[in-house]
Amino acid sequence: MSKDYYKILGVEKNATQDELKKAFKKLAMQHHPDRPGGDEKKFKEINEAFQVLGDAEKRKKFDQFGSDFEQQGGWGGAGGSWEDVMNAFRQQQGGAGQGGFSFNFGGADFGDLFGGFGDLFGGGSSRRNGHSSRGRDIQVDVEIDFKEAAFGVEKELSLRKQSKCDVCGGSGGEPGSKKETCGICHGQGQVTQVQRTFLGAMQTVVTCSACNGRGEKSSKICKHCGGDGILAKTSSINIKIPAGIDDGQSIRLSGHGEAAPHGGQSGDLYVQAHVRPQKVFHREGFDVYTDNEINFTQAVLGDKIEVETIDGQIRVAVPEGTESGQLIRLKGRGIFYLGRSGRGDHYVKIKIRIPRRVSRKVRKTLEELKSEL
Ligand SMILES: [Zn+2]
Ligand SMILES: [Zn+2]
Repeated sequence: MSKDYYKILGVEKNATQDELKKAFKKLAMQHHPDRPGGDEKKFKEINEAFQVLGDAEKRKKFDQFGSDFEQQGGWGGAGGSWEDVMNAFRQQQGGAGQGGFSFNFGGADFGDLFGGFGDLFGGGSSRRNGHSSRGRDIQVDVEIDFKEAAFGVEKELSLRKQSKCDVCGGSGGEPGSKKETCGICHGQGQVTQVQRTFLGAMQTVVTCSACNGRGEKSSKICKHCGGDGILAKTSSINIKIPAGIDDGQSIRLSGHGEAAPHGGQSGDLYVQAHVRPQKVFHREGFDVYTDNEINFTQAVLGDKIEVETIDGQIRVAVPEGTESGQLIRLKGRGIFYLGRSGRGDHYVKIKIRIPRRVSRKVRKTLEELKSEL
């Protein structure tokens, strides 16, 4: 069946390369299967569309023949394999961030999605190990309450994942067995590979996958893990959720994803925070808001009221002549700033409660007051 690649990317037939890249980047971010709500089928489709339209030659052919041209072997070896694309994406995702954690994949750069063509997306680091297998990234969700988000919290998570084999330490070789020079790379740890890409053939030096770059192999494989150096294991991990984190934000724990076979680089662990809904506090950035009712004499005369803050109950002075909707600021009683010192504020939003009915005595007093005013 013929596909309309323009429609898939949501661009006009006369879209510029810039527009195509932009549309692709946005859609790929949205539908990537590693993300919540991602859709692998859709992502593949977008990827396919871009591999064709992103290349001037192929785009011309597509405009002429449509996507059916592909079935006749016309597109050739576009880009890398699907796994390459996925891995490159994962590595790229892992590459963003600073100082131990990054948030929400927000600034993720696709740099090297197509391996070797980082410039296509404006910079980006080169792939870490050629085709070597990096461990998969893992995403887990953790539920925390409002105050835990405000002050930070430590959570213990139990995770089942591919982990390094304890017996061989991840090398895959039987402990104590002889080491032999790798026959594939002859001890170099690297091999030269010719990659067919949609921009032509390209030579790249990649890590030898037979020895995973070590240049040598053990003569006997580890019996415990079968030579892969990894095993599925359940382990617990302590996670520090930083103060100030908000609902939906993620932290990245570098190297805490799945272990890679043969001692390769481990993936990353993404922990997404979900803040349990509650009724007392309302968050706005790093400020906290509460609604607090007073009666009309308190409003007119002023008073001291008890306000619940994230630090506990606090006595707050309501000045005389306070109007409904007025905000009283409690400086530095808000949420801790994420990744820096200091706190936001707490705002007490005053609501004046007007009684529906009053006693005869109160009515009499109010009648007097009325004539007074
Ligand atoms: Zn082992
Ligand atoms: Zn080798």
